[in-house]
Amino acid sequence: MSTVGDQPAEEWAEQQAEHETDPQAQYQVEPLAENLIERLAQRAFSGADLAALLTLEEPAAVAQLHRAAYDLTTHEVGDAVYYRGLIELSNRCIRDCYYCGIRRGNHAVERYTLDQEAVVEAAVWAAHAGYGSCVLQAGERQDEPFTAFIEACVRDIKQQTRSAQLPQGLGITLSLGEQSAETYQRWREAGAHRYLLRIETSSPTLFARLHPPEQRFERRLKALEDLAACGFQVGTGVMIGLPGQTIADLVADIRFFASHAIDMIGMGPYLTASGNAMPDSDAATMAPERLLTLTLNMIATTRLVLRDVNIAATTALQTLVPDGRERGIACGANIVMPNITPTVARSHYQLYVGKPCLDEGREACRGCLERRIRAVGRRVGRDAWGDSKHYARRL
Ligand code: SAH
Repeated sequence: MSTVGDQPAEEWAEQQAEHETDPQAQYQVEPLAENLIERLAQRAFSGADLAALLTLEEPAAVAQLHRAAYDLTTHEVGDAVYYRGLIELSNRCIRDCYYCGIRRGNHAVERYTLDQEAVVEAAVWAAHAGYGSCVLQAGERQDEPFTAFIEACVRDIKQQTRSAQLPQGLGITLSLGEQSAETYQRWREAGAHRYLLRIETSSPTLFARLHPPEQRFERRLKALEDLAACGFQVGTGVMIGLPGQTIADLVADIRFFASHAIDMIGMGPYLTASGNAMPDSDAATMAPERLLTLTLNMIATTRLVLRDVNIAATTALQTLVPDGRERGIACGANIVMPNITPTVARSHYQLYVGKPCLDEGREACRGCLERRIRAVGRRVGRDAWGDSKHYARRL
């Protein structure tokens, strides 16, 4: 098999077309190639290497993989973990992603949208707490009042968070789905500089099974291109353990990250959502222990291949196990997204079952999280944006 490094997008597309999802082959443990563990510091991994790393289960080998990814993180991006205070500003959504608890078709959800004052207040709180950045996330909407609302929130946050510590204000990441290039441009000009849009899976076949027909894989690819063209630092990612997903799909996901302009990665386990519409939801849910190992192996392997990107330890990982974020950091993640959404709204933004900290205020999380980060030998990167080194290098 060919190796994965800085591969052009056309090559990725060709390889992608070659492999078809084979549900029979789901998550079989791959034989470990000779010397693979000794070769963890190398720059180019074959597809077979990646498959073997993802399926490692033997505790000593898993520990070596995770340690190598942790050390490479220290070497490439440093020992700081950066915070992005997460503001879930609305659960209204025009999309119907089958896996998601706030999809349009889930009528059991009480819908809300925070007002500008509440959004900006949360961001100002983050700035005072030393978090250098915030993320504005919501269900997807494409109407003009929403576009203008986001634009106004971004400008207001920028204005109100400039200080001696943060001369350019809080770093703002948006996570608001597929939009036109013009909308992305408007939000970029308002002052947001990073954008998260997960590809969810790089397999067009699997993507089609997870979404209604009008949500097209090609459209998502185009949105990622538009974001890069607007000058955003671009984040993407996938869910791990999706029904019907194979190890070959996850290998292809890593190839995808390496061959597109991707600066940040957020990946988490696929979790059951209440009111979901997954076609085969009960068929292939993985046992939590295996799902945890696979997710951590995916983070570690992605770090070894992508090297200087930012990688988030996600809320979904923390949902799977209470110490999920630290475990993610211990195997190559360098970003966490503490939830700073006003407590009244949190319970209405449940993408999946079991979301943690629903009743907790932002203050409660602060000390607790910092202790957890220190416990894995990292420090908190305070009053700084913590931008992706990969972005700076790809310009
Ligand atoms: N509307 C925005 C934000 C989506 S929510 C957008 O479309 O980008 C952010 C991420 O949560 C999604 O991209 C998806 O990967 C993840 N997510 C949604 N439902 C999930 C589930 N059931 N299990 C795990 N992750 C889920």
